[in-house]
Amino acid sequence: MREKTVLVTGASRGIGAAVARAFANAGYRVAVNYNTSKTEAEALAAQWPGQMLPVQADVADRAQVEAMFRQVQEAFGGVDVLVCNAGIARQELFTDVTPAAWQRMLDVHLSGAFHCCQCALPHMLHQKWGRIVTVSSMWGQVGGSCEVAYSAAKAGLIGLTRALAKEEGPSGITVNCVAPGVIETDMMAAFSANDKAALAEETPLGSLGSPEQVAKAILFLAGDDADYITGQVLGVNGGLVV
Ligand code: NAD
Repeated sequence: MREKTVLVTGASRGIGAAVARAFANAGYRVAVNYNTSKTEAEALAAQWPGQMLPVQADVADRAQVEAMFRQVQEAFGGVDVLVCNAGIARQELFTDVTPAAWQRMLDVHLSGAFHCCQCALPHMLHQKWGRIVTVSSMWGQVGGSCEVAYSAAKAGLIGLTRALAKEEGPSGITVNCVAPGVIETDMMAAFSANDKAALAEETPLGSLGSPEQVAKAILFLAGDDADYITGQVLGVNGGLVV
């Protein structure tokens, strides 16, 4: 098989950027999706000239996602591995969630994965091989207070992962999910140092996670060592949820 191509959504920073770096280091060609963070995505891609390609799309927008897949197809010849990582977070009481905020949460996390998976599948089905990894959250597993919309979207992503794994398994495509715990990225910016220290203390392994630790799990699920694993949710949470 030719060198594999991975498309990582929301890869301009945080977990997505760590995933892009991990795959590039492992020899994959990497399409680095961004929505508005063009400068960051281009700066990342510039470190792997010819091997990384920054590609713009709001994953919630079907037309933009289709255009992005066409761009990757032209440059790299089809997506073999898809990592649905793009996400947004909002902490607020359920009673304060507006219909627009609720809809945007579902659009980015769940519809974003729907659009990307549908666009990725024709190439994977044609070659009878593909790897899809979705990025959910421990809140999608157990539910988070003041994170109802986020938890619902992330739980939906787990449902999508499991059902799609069953449907596409016979075609040589695996679909798995990672469910990170508390990972030190911009998404945690709203948390105070005291909050973070308390969360670290609560975590059996004694610290918050790093984007690189999540990236290693995703690289594993896309690799040959995971060739009999599909439909699974792998917690990367230091034991916070067991
Ligand atoms: P982050 O905010 O640093 O990164 C999110 C990325 O998604 C950014 O690059 C952002 O630009 C991109 N993005 C947002 N909306 C987009 C859209 N509509 N289209 C394309 N890209 C979009 O946060 P992160 O912590 O790196 O989060 C990555 C993923 O991991 C998210 O799905 C998040 O929900 C999940 N997650 C994070 C944590 C954590 O503690 N940080 C825990 C569990 C799950």
